Amino acid sequence: MTDNGRLLSTALAIVVVGYGFYWFRGYGPGDIGSAEITESEILDHIRYLSDDERAGRYPGTRESKDVISYLIKQFKSFGISPGGKNNSYVQTFSVLDGIELGSNNHLMIGNDSLGIDADFIPLWFSGNGDLSTSAVFAGYGFDIKEDSLVWNDYGGIDVDGKWVMVMRHSPARDNPHSLYASHAELHKKMVVARDRGAAGILYISQVEDSTLIPLRYHAGYSKAGMPAIHLSNKQADELLNSVGRSRKAIQTKMDRTLSPLTFDMPNTIISASVELKSVYIRAANVLGKITSRNHKFRDKYIVVGAHFDHLGYGGPGTGSRKPDTTAIHSGADDNASGTAGILELAHKLQLNRKLLKRSVLFVGFDAEEKGVLGAKHFVENPTVELSNIVTMINMDMIGRITDSIATVGGVGTSPLFPILLDSLSEKSPITLKQDPAGYGPSDHSAFYIKDIPVLFFFSGFHSDYHTPDDDWKHIDAWGAKQILDIAFNVITHISRAAERPVFTIAGPKEPSGRRRGKLKVTLGIIPSYGSLDVGLKVDGISNPHGPAAKAGIQRGDIIKTMGGKTVMDIYEFMDRLAEFKKGQTITVIIDRGGTEKELSVSF
Ligand SMILES: [Zn+2]
Repeated sequence: MTDNGRLLSTALAIVVVGYGFYWFRGYGPGDIGSAEITESEILDHIRYLSDDERAGRYPGTRESKDVISYLIKQFKSFGISPGGKNNSYVQTFSVLDGIELGSNNHLMIGNDSLGIDADFIPLWFSGNGDLSTSAVFAGYGFDIKEDSLVWNDYGGIDVDGKWVMVMRHSPARDNPHSLYASHAELHKKMVVARDRGAAGILYISQVEDSTLIPLRYHAGYSKAGMPAIHLSNKQADELLNSVGRSRKAIQTKMDRTLSPLTFDMPNTIISASVELKSVYIRAANVLGKITSRNHKFRDKYIVVGAHFDHLGYGGPGTGSRKPDTTAIHSGADDNASGTAGILELAHKLQLNRKLLKRSVLFVGFDAEEKGVLGAKHFVENPTVELSNIVTMINMDMIGRITDSIATVGGVGTSPLFPILLDSLSEKSPITLKQDPAGYGPSDHSAFYIKDIPVLFFFSGFHSDYHTPDDDWKHIDAWGAKQILDIAFNVITHISRAAERPVFTIAGPKEPSGRRRGKLKVTLGIIPSYGSLDVGLKVDGISNPHGPAAKAGIQRGDIIKTMGGKTVMDIYEFMDRLAEFKKGQTITVIIDRGGTEKELSVSF
């Protein structure tokens, strides 16, 4: 406690002294070239941003607002102008961040009234509303038609307008590579039941499970359009016993025979009301700009960005690698280091403003850890014309260099970059490994998708990544300075170049490997991961000769159905896609600007 207190006051003293110094240099006589980026300035920013007082910079929190104020204050002290609309330093946006129970959650089985959170719980994708009808037990809820596995739990039953009750998991619950795995997901079972006309779904546990599925927000899911509820073991057992069945016997038989086991329960009315509420938070990008005095080039911009948000206190669903530990995730390397980088570059570039022909826009991105949301929001609502952004330079984790080797990604996105980086890193004491890929797990991807050349500075992963141990004490400020010195030269060079960098495609415009193993076909689109629209929003065309492009699907379209089946979110989209084979032609209904269109897609 005492130690922490002393540390904090030392840090504050440094910051306060620092302000005076910046002010002097920012407004002093034209001492161009004297504004060297120093290790101590880098470390001061990182220590402030990763201090416990900042509580892990979770979007929308008071601590995050303090960080936003800090960035603005720094920009102002350097003489950096507002880079947002209406002369503002911020660009705010809403982020769907959670779900919670509303006041209207009830379940009655026959005449028994059940207790929320004890006897039942809605699933995170449950629709809101009421349903009162009887149930049909549909085994594991499978409808599998694979070459080596056929299992249809809906063969001899009519579930139209009724509850479907299914058992969770599969006969191979512990094997994530089993043929059942993708069919055993809770959400997939709901989609199958809904396709069959069910009006609600009740899940019961296998004998190995003891607790209710915690109500937790999972990004990317739309509402199911019908109630989806998990029943406690006690309630499931009582219900099944009342019709002469037992959960254990059902499971044992299905797992032994590997075939459907279904039965109707027409005499028990199950009445439910579900009300889940979405929780939104207010996030904000921070923008500052240096406008060049060159009249010919000043409306062209280099965007220099880094995300300033991190995981807060961690916990399940935040991206923490220790999700069971609730502790401040300081995020010193990820990404106080890159944020410090923006500030230092802004300061030095402002003092060397005469060197600039094209202008520079600095962006501190928020909500990167939630899926690059700040950068996505920016490219959809740009504060300068996207076509005027000549290059985006991203810094994410530049503070933990090892063996004097750092990486620069995106060098394949313009033919200029390999040559430029070779020559500019030649004199540097560090080695800069070049990676051509335009897509990577950070903010620059949002720009790459929009055909903007990108560069991504990165000092490498480490064992403290996304844990509470990513602390400023492990920061190598010397390494960060070397990276920033190179970045400074890259920015001034691109700013002054006779021609803007030409964009070239460098690899896929989507994450690799995401649930793709089971797909036999692709559409050749970039699906939107952050969209709140019902359906699958197309962020772009990844393959100009792919099935989607040939069928006339365009960026901005929202896919509503495929092969006659609804698509409500990216998970349903992946499920539908998994059912198609090469050579097949299907009908796809899309929504384009409010009008539905029917297209024919051939795989
Ligand atoms: Zn991160």
